[in-house]
Order: sequence, then C-alpha cells, then structure tokens
Amino acid sequence: MAAAPPAAKLFIGGRWVPPIHGASIPVVNPHDGSTIGAIAAGTSEDVAAAAWAAKHAFAEWSATTGAHRASILRAIATEIKKRKDALSSTETNDCGKPLEESEWDIDDAAACFEYYASRCEAIFGSASTASKPVSLPDASFRGTLVKEPLGVVGLITPWNYPLLMAVWKVAPALAAGCAVVLKPSELASLTCLELADVARVAGVPPGVFNVVTGAGADAGAAVCVAPGIDKIAFTGSLATGRRVARACSEEPKPCSLELGGKSTLVVFDDVDVDVAVEWAMFGCFWTNGQICSATSRVLVHERIAEAFKRKLRAAVAGIDAGEPRRKGCRLGPLVSAGQRDKVLAYIANGISNGVEVLCGGCEPPRGKHVHAAGYYVAPTIFWNVPQSDPLWKEEIFGPVMSVREFRDEDEAIEIANDSEYGLAAAVLSNDDARCERMTGRFQAGIVWQQCSQPCFAELPWGGKKRSGFGRDLGEDGMEKYLHTKQVVRYASEEPFGWYPSCSKL
Ligand code: NAD
Repeated sequence: MAAAPPAAKLFIGGRWVPPIHGASIPVVNPHDGSTIGAIAAGTSEDVAAAAWAAKHAFAEWSATTGAHRASILRAIATEIKKRKDALSSTETNDCGKPLEESEWDIDDAAACFEYYASRCEAIFGSASTASKPVSLPDASFRGTLVKEPLGVVGLITPWNYPLLMAVWKVAPALAAGCAVVLKPSELASLTCLELADVARVAGVPPGVFNVVTGAGADAGAAVCVAPGIDKIAFTGSLATGRRVARACSEEPKPCSLELGGKSTLVVFDDVDVDVAVEWAMFGCFWTNGQICSATSRVLVHERIAEAFKRKLRAAVAGIDAGEPRRKGCRLGPLVSAGQRDKVLAYIANGISNGVEVLCGGCEPPRGKHVHAAGYYVAPTIFWNVPQSDPLWKEEIFGPVMSVREFRDEDEAIEIANDSEYGLAAAVLSNDDARCERMTGRFQAGIVWQQCSQPCFAELPWGGKKRSGFGRDLGEDGMEKYLHTKQVVRYASEEPFGWYPSCSKL
C-alpha cells in the first residue's frame, strides 16, 4: 500500500529510519519562503549503513533475471503514473517549477523506467548476466564477453529536476542489477523519498534502493568514499564535480560526471523569426532557467537581429510568472534564496559593466501571483553581451539570456565553441546542409536542429570538455552500471604444450 514518506527519515534497508545524529534540514517552498516540512540530515554513519544494506542486498538482486528486473521496473512506472498528481504537486512545492512542467517530468520519469525495462529484457532476457561469444584468431580458444551488474552504486543528484535526474540513474542502475544509494539534493529531496516508497510497493527488495538525504559536504562527500560503494554517478555543478572526482581518485573509484553548461542557440536569417523567438524562450526559460543544457546564449544573424529583438522583448513581457501551481504559469520562483541571490548578482554585475538590458533586471517580476517573500527573478535579457563578460561565459542557472549578433557561419561556430563547457548546442536554419555543417563543428555532446531542449530516454545525454564525462540515458546510460568481464576457454583436445614448445603463442 502507498504511504507518504515520514518527515526527516532516511530509507535504508527497506525501512524508514531516523538519521543517526537526529538532525534535520527544513524544506522551504520557494514561492513564499514558508517551511513545509523537514528532511533528515544524513551523515557518514547513515551512508555507511545504507552502503552495508545495499551490499547485502546486491547478491540476491544481481542474480535475478533480466525479465524479473524488467517486470519490477514496469511496476515502478505504473506506480509513478498512479501517483502523478501527488508527485508533481510535491515537486512544484519543493523546487518551484511550474506545475505543468512537473507533470511533464513525472511522465518522463515513468517513461524512463519503461525504457530501461525494455533494455533490461533485451540485454539479459532470462539470464542475470549477458554473454556473447567473440571470435578469436586462434581456434584452440573460445572467447566470451560477459556483462554483469557492477555492484553498489552511489548516485548524487541535483535539485533542478529532483525526481527526473535521479530516475535517469536509478532506472538503468536497477535494470543492470546494481544496488543503489541515492543522495538527492538537500534543496529538493521530497520526490526522491517518495520514489523509495514507490520502489517498495513495486517489489524492489529491501536494501536494493536506499535514499540518504543530507548536505552535500556531509552525506554527499561520504557517498564518494564509502568503502562498500563501487562507483559514483554524479550530476551537479562543475565545482562539486571537481570535489567528487578528487574524492573518487583517492580510492580510486570510478565515477561519471554530468556537469554544467553554457550552451548556444544559433539563429540564422532564413528562419521564421516568431518560431525562432519561441525556441529561444523555451531554450532559456524552461524550468525557470535552471537547466544544465539551457541555451542561455543566443547568437542571432545580424540581418534579422532587429526583428528578433523586438519580438523577443514583446514575447518575454507576456511570460506568465508567479505562483507555479497555476495553470498557464511559465515561470516560477528559483529554488532557494541563495540561488536567487547568485542570479541577481550576475544581473547586477552585467548592468554595472554597462551591458545593454533588453528587459528584466534586478527587480522581481510584477503581478498579483508573485509573492513578496518568494525567490523570484524577472526573465532578463542582455543584448550585445561581450564575450569576456561573465554573463556570456559562466553558467548562471536562472532566467537570464545573453544575446549577440553574428555575421557568418565561421564566426558563429568560433563564438559558440569558445566555452569551457560543451554540453549542448542548437541551430535554427532552413538550410539542411548548413545545419549538418554546424552540427559537425559544434563541440557539444548534444546538438538540436530546429529546436532546443527536447530530450528522449532513447538517446544518450552528456557533454564534452568541462561538462563532464559518461552518459545518462540511451544504451550508454545503462552500460556504465555494467562490469565487463572477458572469459577465455581452452577448447582444444590437444595438450597446450608450453613446455615442449612455445610455438602456439
Ligand atoms: P551541486 O553541485 O551544488 O549539487 C549537486 C549534488 O551534489 C547535490 O546532491 C549536493 O548535495 C551534492 N554535493 C555537494 N557537495 C558535495 C560534495 N563535496 N561531495 C559529494 N556531493 C556533494 O549542483 P546543484 O546546484 O544541485 O545543481 C545545479 C548544477 O547541476 C548545475 O551546474 C547544472 O548545470 C548541473 N546539472 C547538470 C546536468 C547534466 O545532465 N549535465 C543536469 C542537471 C543539472
């Protein structure tokens, strides 16, 4: 039977338990700053208990067949769909994203479990590991490639898609046969805790899926070094990614990193300007501008720049900002006071550097739905932003778009690739050959043609350069939870004959 997660508890070994030190972290609704609950502040002792539970559960779970694991993943998807209203409402109250976007996330979370259920069946079928023969140049030997569950994995995730970013890792890890210790962001953990109850109801055995909430420096850092955890899959900022990689390198322990971005949308002069404005807005302001792949830099061809500027300003003035539970809301509050202050500091710095402000600024958006105590930032656009300005170079993670004009393809590519990040890039042009040329030249792991942001579980997600390494989603997204073993069998009736002669090698 479904049950709401109790306040300030951790999910370890299939049970809700208080954190060993008894501390908690308040849960704040970013719309009005009110406290709506509490999560447990887990520490290294709790992580150790979760890792122990996972290690003991791993033996049995990893021995189950692919078909069995797939059936459980499908049961999780069904349970998520049943709880869609509750989960999306919790998500919006916890992180501030518009309710309709939270509903979209919950659908995507269910679809991700279904996708990995299918992958699990395709890879393992009625076995618990996958084997395939590999032909060798010497007929005396038979080679086999075996893929088996990697072990216990520590998953550390951010707050911008609190449930979905966790699911991108949890679903393939469980499908692979791994046991999991999930450490969600302390700024938005509620739906990940609810996922624990979903997994319990769906039949995930005790200890296979554990959730330890808490501060990054405590619980997160402990996950990286916990002896029973075999691998870390991290999504978050570049700064934290560096800490995680350093901690893992001490062990050493493998890790994958999905980090930040500063992605560019290039708009050529052969497109419908209204369509371009719509993609530019969606690409930057979706999820209140807090998207790793946000195309927060827009390069617009100089021939259509004036029309684009006029229409963009008018469109942004029409964004429905405010209380995120309302139907039609397209911009809610940022996740926390700290995040709001960080974004406002970037805006203030841009203004004091003399960058042209097309709309927005440091004042919160107006309207009766904007609560004075909420963490709101007006959608803000800077025009002709110098390439050296932090607005152009750094990940702001808020509703701030920086625009520049460009003259030709070479200039657009040079500017788009001039970034330490390499997560995504997008191009709008009705010339297909040009789109292909741009796609080949973008230094990014994700390229969108004629759009920005759509994401599918079937395609791998991840970046180049400082945007990290490893992939979520797609076939690659499951591969990283599998261990590769080679098996070589001597298959000849003849004695090997090393001592009489070494001619066989
Ligand atoms: P963050 O780096 O502050 O935190 C991410 C997670 O790491 C949280 O759970 C946090 O508690 C934990 N953490 C913090 N310090 C830690 C430490 N020392 N050791 C281990 N864990 C620690 O990121 P955030 O603010 O939660 O999320 C926003 C960032 O995430 C942005 O940079 C965004 O681009 C990135 N992101 C990337 C992707 C992607 O797929 N590439 C997707 C979503 C978000």
